[in-house]
Amino acid sequence: MKFATKQIHAGQHPEETTGAVITPIFQTSTYSNDKLGESKGFDYGRTINPTRSALEANLASLENGKYGFCFSSGMAAVQTVINLFKPGDHVICTNNVYGGTYRLYEQVMKNYGLEFSYVDTSDNDELKNSIKPNTKFIYVETPTNPMLNITDLKNLGKLGKEKNIITCVDNTFMSPYFQNPLDFGIDIVLHSTTKYINGHSDVIGGCLVTSDDRIAEKLKFLQNSVGSVPSPFDCWLVLRSTKTLAQRMRAHNENAVNICKVLSSDKKIVKLYYPGLESHPQHELAKSQMSGSGGIISLDVGSYDKAVSFCNSLKIFQIAESLGGVESLVCHPVSMTHGSVPKELREKFGLTDGLVRLSVGIEDNDDLIADIENALKSL
Ligand SMILES: *Cc1c(COP(=O)(O)O)cnc(C)c1O
Repeated sequence: MKFATKQIHAGQHPEETTGAVITPIFQTSTYSNDKLGESKGFDYGRTINPTRSALEANLASLENGKYGFCFSSGMAAVQTVINLFKPGDHVICTNNVYGGTYRLYEQVMKNYGLEFSYVDTSDNDELKNSIKPNTKFIYVETPTNPMLNITDLKNLGKLGKEKNIITCVDNTFMSPYFQNPLDFGIDIVLHSTTKYINGHSDVIGGCLVTSDDRIAEKLKFLQNSVGSVPSPFDCWLVLRSTKTLAQRMRAHNENAVNICKVLSSDKKIVKLYYPGLESHPQHELAKSQMSGSGGIISLDVGSYDKAVSFCNSLKIFQIAESLGGVESLVCHPVSMTHGSVPKELREKFGLTDGLVRLSVGIEDNDDLIADIENALKSL
């Protein structure tokens, strides 16, 4: 089955007692046994919930994987996957990783004896050279936020297999519609479902998908042992959202491509970052592993003051953190999401004071372009 069919049907079937087409919200903490020792396969709500199971099967299918696991946030998914490892294990992580992941690794997990290296995983040589005898895990985000650097997934999958290192890709920015890391030999895919997968800015959630039986068994154990599971209602909302994921992603992509056309012809823009542009240094790699470029655009307008006036001049784009919702948002990473990253480090990544990040929504394209053109006049 193709994506747009799977997004609506995978993991779901008419409810048995009534034939309800939509999977119900099984708002229950426990399940009754007919006789002592005879359960229907359901014992306790943290361990298993039918609404959650439907979502897990749906997301597994969208990522071309066998097993899905849902969590109460993207960070809970990151926490659960890092719990696969033990004191003394070395972890390689993309240097320009999501700030919350960096904070969890540096300020929490380091205290439990894990060792972390932050490297430019978009450089195949640097990645390979950073492997140590105790390296057990490579955690990659591609494209990165907000610089949109790309790591070669085929190379990563091959490296992991060769060196017997578990690989995980945070696929939040592309969604399963534009990129499926498992197809490249990656072991685990992670999403903050808060972003594109839910897409309506009303749920915090996360998921992991794998096809590896042994990893799946451990993740199932950890999901139940750690217990950061999502509510049945949140699972139901996400399940409803995945039914339109393909259509939303195409609309995000189309709007973003058209906005890039306007931005790239404006001389006031110092630098434009979008994987779909031929000027992106990894455009060819992007095309080989992503079937679209998504809805995130970063642009450098030249200075802090210009970034402020650009953001304040936008009317449809709302100034907010987060991304991936149907509504367009604008963020100034230096004063919002990346404020805690030291200036020297930020500038090394190209994350300057003039950088602005757009999360392009699915509103009417003409209206969004008019909004951007108006804000450009403020520069
Ligand atoms: C938002 C985000 C996360 C964390 O997810 P939450 O749902 O906010 O906990 C992780 N990775 C990326 C790339 C994100 O954008």
